[in-house]
Amino acid sequence: MGKSIVIIGAGIAGLSAGCYGRMNGYDTRVFELHDKPGGLCTAWKRKDYTVDGCIHWLVGTNPSSNFNRIWRELGALQGKEVVNHEVFIRFEGTGGRFFDLYTDVDRLERHMKELAPADTAIIEEMTGAIRAIGRVDMPLPKPREVSSPFDGLKMLPKMLPLMRPLMKYRKISLRAFAERFTDPLLHEAFTGIFDLPDFPLLAFLFTMAWLNNRDAGYPVGGSLEFSRAIEGRYLDLGGEISYSSAVEKILVEGGRAVGIRLSDGSEHRADIVISAADGHATIFDMLEGKYADDKIHRRYDSMPIFEPLVQVALGVASELRDEPQTVSFPLPSPIEIAGQKHERMQVINHRFDPVQMPEGKTVLITTFMTEYLYWEKLYDDRDRYKEEKKSIADAVVTAIEGRFPAVTGRIEMVDVATPITYKRYTNNWQGSFEGWLLTTTNMGESMIKGMDMTLPGLEGFYMIGQWVKPGGGLPPAAQSGREVIQIICHKDGRPFTTTE
Ligand SMILES: Cc1cc2nc3c(=O)[nH]c(=O)nc-3n(C[C@H](O)[C@H](O)[C@H](O)COP(=O)(O)OP(=O)(O)OC[C@H]3O[C@@H](n4cnc5c(N)ncnc54)[C@H](O)[C@@H]3O)c2cc1C
Repeated sequence: MGKSIVIIGAGIAGLSAGCYGRMNGYDTRVFELHDKPGGLCTAWKRKDYTVDGCIHWLVGTNPSSNFNRIWRELGALQGKEVVNHEVFIRFEGTGGRFFDLYTDVDRLERHMKELAPADTAIIEEMTGAIRAIGRVDMPLPKPREVSSPFDGLKMLPKMLPLMRPLMKYRKISLRAFAERFTDPLLHEAFTGIFDLPDFPLLAFLFTMAWLNNRDAGYPVGGSLEFSRAIEGRYLDLGGEISYSSAVEKILVEGGRAVGIRLSDGSEHRADIVISAADGHATIFDMLEGKYADDKIHRRYDSMPIFEPLVQVALGVASELRDEPQTVSFPLPSPIEIAGQKHERMQVINHRFDPVQMPEGKTVLITTFMTEYLYWEKLYDDRDRYKEEKKSIADAVVTAIEGRFPAVTGRIEMVDVATPITYKRYTNNWQGSFEGWLLTTTNMGESMIKGMDMTLPGLEGFYMIGQWVKPGGGLPPAAQSGREVIQIICHKDGRPFTTTE
């Protein structure tokens, strides 16, 4: 019999580790606090509508890309239709003009030049960089624990075309780049599309390259179906999952993790423990902060995270067929949430996933980044918390009726999720929806080195998921589950094998 592994959390990282563990003959058991798989990659039913809580774009959907192999191994996409949007987002400027962020780079370039002929040089520089990045299909990297300098050398020729854009843009934010557009609409759009002050230009360029390669589509059926497909693969491989099982403590004996204790007091021992749950709770609660050195303290004290979200979803008895799938528009009067004024709103019209709503209807979803502590305090007074949710919902309905008059009188469902919702259902630190914020400071480091999956002084223990992959997202979560089993196989002196 193979060694036993306990995995905390049935999010995408935990399920992935479970699948690869089973493919390599380990005896795996996942403990999940919720009653379903997926973690943040989830959806919920409200009346006849499905509110999707996650996937907008999934890297690795093109069957010919290297990353697609991981999704095939996890059984995540087989048999699913993938939608590749023509326009990623329509940005309506304050001056009345609009800009379509086409996913096809040639079309994007033509559109931008029509809008802003004076900015031709900067437009061509940007689209040139997207094309250059898109020509490189990133090989699946081996974790550094199992790779040799020779592996690095082998990768080098494939990565060479990336060197120029990486060196040139590695310290530049999208906002700083936006300053170079003289056209007011393009300047406004590139400042506002990713509403994060230090969002790296490179992250935007990579995203556009994947979209142009039709490698960042949307799997029809949505987020929970995607998670359930991986859960199905894990169960088919003979893995075990225990739901409604909150891990309270990681058991350590003589500097080695030997199992876990659940909140019901039961203990489950294993040769190896992998936490695919929230990083902060793992280090500071389940392990009581005993294995956190200065570096880890500094990280959790000061490294920025993706702020949590307020998400408002509306079920509408109209398809809004002529509207773009995602539109960002300026609000006639700002919406105030947790003391922060939001001057524009971005709405996704989910009609591209007909499985999620009755025929002829749609779900509109909008999200706002917000401050966690405000919501934590508010939640102590449940009536005020509910009133705040209602008042945000009312403001969103008014704004949406203003922008899409056809929905007036046709809204059949309103659903509001707050940072408390995300915290309660996934236990993510401060309700964060994607872990560590990607910035111009950590982008290079995270791409080249990644964060440690182990803790100092603790044997037989690994951490995976979005809290060890800055920038978060589903592909890094799945990749970290694969990498951890590669490392464990390497330590055990056995070959790492995968099946599809
Ligand atoms: C609105 C939204 C949109 C997003 N859009 C995209 C997108 O378009 N593309 C993309 O790639 N990514 C997207 N993401 C990000 C992506 O969902 C996450 O980065 C990814 O799902 C993280 O996976 P994970 O397995 O690392 O963590 P999680 O999903 O947080 O999984 C952790 C699991 O551990 C469980 N757990 C926690 N504590 C315990 C405990 N004590 N005991 C037992 N179990 C525990 C949780 O319940 C959870 O199931 C989005 C996220 C959100 C919220």
